[in-house]
Amino acid sequence: MPRKSSAGSASNFFPDKLSLPSLRAAAADCQACDLWKRGTQTVFGAGPSRAVVMFVGEQPGNEEDLKGKPFVGPAGRLFADALAQAGIDRSQTYVTNVVKHFKWEPRGKRRIHKKPNAEEISACRPWLEAEIRVVKPNVIVALGATAAQALLGPKFRVTKQRGEFLESTLAPYVMATVHPASILRAPDDATRRLEQRRFVQDLKKLARVLP
Ligand code: SF4
Repeated sequence: MPRKSSAGSASNFFPDKLSLPSLRAAAADCQACDLWKRGTQTVFGAGPSRAVVMFVGEQPGNEEDLKGKPFVGPAGRLFADALAQAGIDRSQTYVTNVVKHFKWEPRGKRRIHKKPNAEEISACRPWLEAEIRVVKPNVIVALGATAAQALLGPKFRVTKQRGEFLESTLAPYVMATVHPASILRAPDDATRRLEQRRFVQDLKKLARVLP
């Protein structure tokens, strides 16, 4: 049974035995920060328990929140296309987020993404750490600034260091690149196509370290 002694850290909701199914079930009841009140459900990571590559994004979006699965919205579809172009089989990857609930604010009838704050990221981080501990991926790829800074420190700049393998205790190979949602926000088609090509180039570098 999940422990619910106090809020403030997801670790207070951890199951006794760490496995992906037990963590996923426990995370469904997490109330370590206020985001559980706003999201429809916890969106835990998805993928094989022995995935070689783990991708980490910021938080679930509108569609992910409704479906309860990560990377299934418009950015997730762009991500799937880019993986295919880079020759990486998505079914062999584990995809997750730093924060497991959708943070949003209303704009008319729409729910608009709102960046999680440092407290929410810190409260949720134990779920990600547990996912890394259980899956033990050979490669971790942070997607976007929030994930990169949560994993690699607040001074990390995706704009300067994207696509580089970095020294880290998290996994033998760690890299950061942009979040696919940022490509969708490109101001025009030409920029979007260019950014998409750069994203695929970053993903292709993973092929060098995959078994
Ligand atoms: S965002 Fe994370 S820490 Fe906050 S309630 Fe959801 S699962 Fe728990």
